[in-house]
Amino acid sequence: MQEYNEELFEMSRQLSQYKKIAVISHVRPDGDAIGSQIGVCLWLKAKGIAFIAHNDDKLPADIAWLDNSVGIQSYEQEAFESCDALLFVDGNTPKRFGRHMKWFENTTKPSFMIDHHPDPFDGYTYMVSVPAAASTAELIYGLYEQTDLSLLSKEAATAIYTGILTDTGGFRFSSVGAKIHHIVADLIERADLRVDEIFQRVFDNRQIKHLALIGRALSRLKLDDESGIATMVIYKKDLDETGCKYDELDGLTQFPLSLQHARVAVIFTQFEDRIKLSFRSKDDFNVNLLARNFDGGGHQKASGAWYESTDMDQAVEDVLKAAKAQLAQMAAGA
Ligand code: 5GP
Ligand code: MN
Repeated sequence: MQEYNEELFEMSRQLSQYKKIAVISHVRPDGDAIGSQIGVCLWLKAKGIAFIAHNDDKLPADIAWLDNSVGIQSYEQEAFESCDALLFVDGNTPKRFGRHMKWFENTTKPSFMIDHHPDPFDGYTYMVSVPAAASTAELIYGLYEQTDLSLLSKEAATAIYTGILTDTGGFRFSSVGAKIHHIVADLIERADLRVDEIFQRVFDNRQIKHLALIGRALSRLKLDDESGIATMVIYKKDLDETGCKYDELDGLTQFPLSLQHARVAVIFTQFEDRIKLSFRSKDDFNVNLLARNFDGGGHQKASGAWYESTDMDQAVEDVLKAAKAQLAQMAAGA
């Protein structure tokens, strides 16, 4: 994936024109969103460019520890008005960036984007959109590489490493190749990273209540043998009774996907007025297409959507129907 180097160089040239940039990551942030945001903010800082770092939501504990000096917080509109430009990371459309999305979409300020989701919004001043990349964080590493890797601090290296680690599911997805391992080898060497400590902070941080919820969800795990679609449902009462919050559920999809004959996993989580659908794929089944049936989207192997009712049985039935129709189309096309 050499082809984005020039684009990253051009991005660095464009960003260097400004005095103060608002760097924005997507709602319900994950390791890649925050890792990329911290990585790019520290790059701006090293270049003498002021920034504010915005996220609509509170950072979950498994990634909040990454932010030592950047100060990611939720800002009001005036704060963005005081910046010369906007930079969006790890999201393809302003819709993924929360409550200021209308303003973000309509502002006349120069806007930039670095991301790896397909189908990017076409209104940015300049963007580096690389759907073949496994993470946005590796593109941020590329930004340093195209400018000056000696600008990379330990905090930035840790953030970028964590972004790559989480978005590749611990280096397990098909998007992982030699290049990513070269990048992480350089990060580890350059910043003397302790990967065991990072893994523990990111993955081994569960409380009993989280495992109690996982237990409930596992007790309802189903695998449709014929199609290889595994489903797991979580009712609102499961969240209420265990005291878990939805944003503490990251990583649940690994359980249905770990079934030998599962090719697609769908997790249904019931909220007050609708159901969150979380899709994962292990092979060439494109869950981005499946999510679009429900007005959602994402990547080929990890996508999400909202089902606009709380009727769990109906939701499962509708999703299985759509998934099987897609499988039938794949079989017909093959
Ligand atoms: P998750 O299952 O972790 O919530 O989401 C997996 C991926 O699907 C995210 O990284 C994001 O790209 C995408 N995604 C999740 N929820 C939505 C949604 O409601 N709409 C769209 N367009 N994409 C989503
Ligand atoms: Mn990402």
